[in-house]
Amino acid sequence: MSREDNANGRAGGSFKEPGPAPGRVEDVRRGNLVRVLAAIAQARTDPQRYPTRAELASLTGLTKASVSSLVAELADSGLVMESGATRDGERGRPGVGLQLSTRRGVVGMEINVDYISAGLLDLGGALRASRTLECGNRGQSPESVMALLSGLVNGVVAEAAAAGIEILGGGLAVPGLVDTASGTVSSAPNLQWHSVALELGGLLPGAPLGTVLYNEANCAALAELWYGHGLDFRDYLFVSGEVGVGGGLVIGSRLFAGPHGQAGEVGHVVVDPSGPDCSCGGRGCLETFAGQEAIFAEAGIPAGTASVRLGQLVEQLDAGNAAATSAVARAGRYLGIAAASTARLMNLSAVVLGGHFTRMGPWLAPAVIESLANHAPGVVSPARVAVSELGQSAALLGAAGSALRSVLAAPSALTPAG
Ligand SMILES: [Zn+2]
Repeated sequence: MSREDNANGRAGGSFKEPGPAPGRVEDVRRGNLVRVLAAIAQARTDPQRYPTRAELASLTGLTKASVSSLVAELADSGLVMESGATRDGERGRPGVGLQLSTRRGVVGMEINVDYISAGLLDLGGALRASRTLECGNRGQSPESVMALLSGLVNGVVAEAAAAGIEILGGGLAVPGLVDTASGTVSSAPNLQWHSVALELGGLLPGAPLGTVLYNEANCAALAELWYGHGLDFRDYLFVSGEVGVGGGLVIGSRLFAGPHGQAGEVGHVVVDPSGPDCSCGGRGCLETFAGQEAIFAEAGIPAGTASVRLGQLVEQLDAGNAAATSAVARAGRYLGIAAASTARLMNLSAVVLGGHFTRMGPWLAPAVIESLANHAPGVVSPARVAVSELGQSAALLGAAGSALRSVLAAPSALTPAG
């Protein structure tokens, strides 16, 4: 949100000072575009509640003339559209509701160890298309995985074109430490990628904002905040089970990523100093007890693809198999230990379990709750240990949502005068 004074000079009163310098006028215009767009974005998806121009003026403190001009600019650039619903405006005059355009969209993408996925989110926040391809990416070259992803993305782009949706940009989630600014994967041990600069420009060549690289667990953590159903948490530890164990810290409804963007790596919190060696080079990390391999091995699930093994594990859990329930309970105990320490350290009161943990939720969550009660009594109540409903699509939604928010934060990059 802009901190600039509004364009109609309310903060300046009636002093007869020279007009603002041209650069400042431009800054004010950009700031006001963001304010109007944010006010439209904050409206509910109920057509009866889409704000009118008059309501936007009162929400932003701008004059109706300014709002009309800014809305026209946002509509010209395709970011905003009239909802078509007329509703009562001031003094009984009808007004037209405004919403983020469903004819513009962003693409969320994910590379994980055993699958890749891509999905189209329109600016209104609806997932319009989604594709997933199971493939073993561990140890594969970044070029070959990016080529596969590019093929998947092309399919989504074609679906967008058929639906008349113009793509503005995208976000790619990768399970590892990333440098967003340079588009570099610093370290993704489970892919065996280190210091890899990805060819992000090739993914959405026609999109004005290009593709931005994100950490997978951070994306999934944010997706719970933006698209999770029934959760009212604003401060939580998100723990994502995949081949590795990822994590994200959401504090005050914002991701806490740390000074180098690498906070929240709960998978590499040490839960047993004498435990097994970990892919990070350390020992006894949470991942060595709660990662897929650890759980499958402990449960005696035979080798195979990750999705088949997960299906077998859930079948055995359903059947009450002792080895399977004990393996998942063990993972839950260690998850509880890591979550207890994290909750104490960061003053958090909620935990959300995502990724493959969602499939194990009924058996895993009770063990996590018991472990939290043992190791941090009274800090996280049982009602605040939740299982994600987004599952495997969380990272994709979070990557797309991050791209969408970068559009909303800098609409002037897309407006004609931008
Ligand atoms: Zn580790």
